[in-house]
Amino acid sequence: MSNDAQSPPWQTDDVRMLRESVRRFVREELVPQQPRWREQHHPDAAAWLSAGRIGMLLPDVPAAYGGGGGTFAHEAAIIEELSRAGVSFGCGVQSIVARYLLSYGSEEQKQRWLPRMARGELVGAIAMTEPGAGSDVAAITTTARRDGEHYVIKGQKTFITNGFHAGLVCLAAKTNPSAPPMRSLSMIVVETKDLPGYAVDRPLEKVGMHGQDTCGLFFDDARVPVANLLGPAEGRGFTQMMQQLPFERLSIAVAAVAMAEEAVALTVRYAKERVVAGKPLFELQNTRFKLAECTADVRVGRAFVDDCIRRYLGGQLDDVSTAVAKYWCTERQCRIVDECVQLHGGYGYMTDYQIARMWIDSRVQRIYAGTNEVMKEVIAWSL
Ligand SMILES: Cc1cc2nc3c(=O)[nH]c(=O)nc-3n(C[C@H](O)[C@H](O)[C@H](O)COP(=O)(O)OP(=O)(O)OC[C@H]3O[C@@H](n4cnc5c(N)ncnc54)[C@H](O)[C@@H]3O)c2cc1C
Repeated sequence: MSNDAQSPPWQTDDVRMLRESVRRFVREELVPQQPRWREQHHPDAAAWLSAGRIGMLLPDVPAAYGGGGGTFAHEAAIIEELSRAGVSFGCGVQSIVARYLLSYGSEEQKQRWLPRMARGELVGAIAMTEPGAGSDVAAITTTARRDGEHYVIKGQKTFITNGFHAGLVCLAAKTNPSAPPMRSLSMIVVETKDLPGYAVDRPLEKVGMHGQDTCGLFFDDARVPVANLLGPAEGRGFTQMMQQLPFERLSIAVAAVAMAEEAVALTVRYAKERVVAGKPLFELQNTRFKLAECTADVRVGRAFVDDCIRRYLGGQLDDVSTAVAKYWCTERQCRIVDECVQLHGGYGYMTDYQIARMWIDSRVQRIYAGTNEVMKEVIAWSL
């Protein structure tokens, strides 16, 4: 199975080379830091700079803007390596912010922010969710009121990944609160350093993914230049978010399959070593059947997600397939990881064991980037 996992059809020599250097970096530089990151609830700022140096940030952004000049295949290889190693590091969110800049930013905006993001000097966050507006984006209440050459921003965001380090927040705010929801929202880029009226909460206490910072952000009449609006005009935010969410959902499906593959592989190893009633756990029929079921699910997930990547690279992936991938792969990820915990017995509940950390880290995959119920709505609309 690991051969299949490591040789997907989209993995070119170039992608393989990046994967190998990322794998080395993750294993040697990031994995040893995880206990401390989990304790402090955020990565070290220095890790962003190191990740930038090895080309792990913005792999699919053109080299002209400091990126790797690759494709989503490069992005996928990085996501897989982090997911397999159990490292929660927000470089996927960095890529999401970069895509907003690439897709809707002016040349000046791209030149100003992308190279620093690629070097890890500027950490990006995407801020849509509010205490009263998650799945229902139309309920966003953060406002950006025009005052001369500035927007005056007021409101609160919550659950924002990378919030602790974020120097650049891609913010969804209402520029025209009285317009219909589809036309009331805009995406505005907020440079947070020394910005009066901007504050970040300490990282939230989550169930899992403890090494990644997830924060509340507060805007109390923070003034941001009008030139930081993304897109040719106000009121495009809703459409922009709907256009960008599939990238995030596919990324989550890629991570889900990679973690499930790793969970099965490490549980097979464990079951062959662990002796129960005088013989390896693997020799019990229940163990072999459970692992066979998990393997079947993983292989089906791998085939589907690889096909989604292929179609995405060809510009042919539709939103419904992306929703299917996000929904199905994350549901199976959670089920598979749970079965693997069960096969570990009590050790599966000890956070010293990677399988236990996978269990607590995987749960959120069914919640963020559009809950799986929202994914089912997207699928159902197509029927
Ligand atoms: C660790 C973590 C990181 C996150 N990172 C970010 C980030 O970087 N940026 C950001 O903006 N947000 C982020 N989020 C927020 C995340 O996207 C939201 O939590 C998610 O969209 C759900 O919104 P909610 O929490 O308000 O739940 P609600 O929208 O209140 O949902 C509650 C329940 O209602 C269900 N529901 C809602 N609508 C429907 C429907 N139409 N049909 C059926 N059921 C429905 C949901 O599925 C869910 O079960 C993050 C969340 C977490 C936990």
